Order: sequence, then C-alpha cells, then structure tokens
Amino acid sequence: MALKNLTGGCLCGSVRYSISEKPQRGYICHCRFCQKQTGMGARPAITVDKASVEIHGDSVGQYKHVIPDHGRAIFPTFCSKCGTSLGSTLERFPDVQVINIGTLDNPGSAATPKVID
Ligand SMILES: [Zn+2]
Ligand SMILES: [Zn+2]
Repeated sequence: MALKNLTGGCLCGSVRYSISEKPQRGYICHCRFCQKQTGMGARPAITVDKASVEIHGDSVGQYKHVIPDHGRAIFPTFCSKCGTSLGSTLERFPDVQVINIGTLDNPGSAATPKVID
C-alpha cells in the first residue's frame, strides 16, 4: 500500500496538521474522559508516532487534564478559535499523538477503528 500524507485540521481552518507515517492503530473510546472532552458518546481516533505529526496554527490550544484513576495527565489539543477538538497527547505515552478521526481531511483514509472500553 502506498503511503501518502494524512492531513487534517479544525473547523475554521486556523489549525492544520499533517502526518507523514502510517497510523499505529484506530479505535473508538467510550471512557468518561473521551466523552466529556469531545462532548460525544465516544471518540473515534487514531494514534500516530508523535514525531511524524506537524501541527500548525496560531490558535492551537492545549489543556492539561489529570485522570483521577492513575494521576497521569492528558493534554487535549484544540483550536482556541472554533473549539474543534483535534486530539491529545499523553503523559503516559510521550511518543504518541492521538488524532480525532473527524478532523482528518479524508476520514476514510484512516485505519478502521476498533471499539474499546
Ligand atoms: Zn479552528
Ligand atoms: Zn477514552
């Protein structure tokens, strides 16, 4: 399979990103963090090598949330202009970038999500 860059961004277009490596995995997470943070019943997402992602834009925001169960932080990435939730990085897995599938330019190009939780 030929590898081509995956690209995406927020609703207003101020934040754009590109991913140069194949996603590690796709999943749909139903944990309370994902529900609250996305405002949805579940988060469809992919994980990619953080080194393969470039995120651009003046309005990239990050928020620190400590998960009470294990005390480690998750840093949701969002657009501070339009509020789009783009994904997150994790204190626990520093080499991983989570990308919310809905923010890809072509969501169908991502790995097929697996349901977890
Ligand atoms: Zn935006
Ligand atoms: Zn989750």
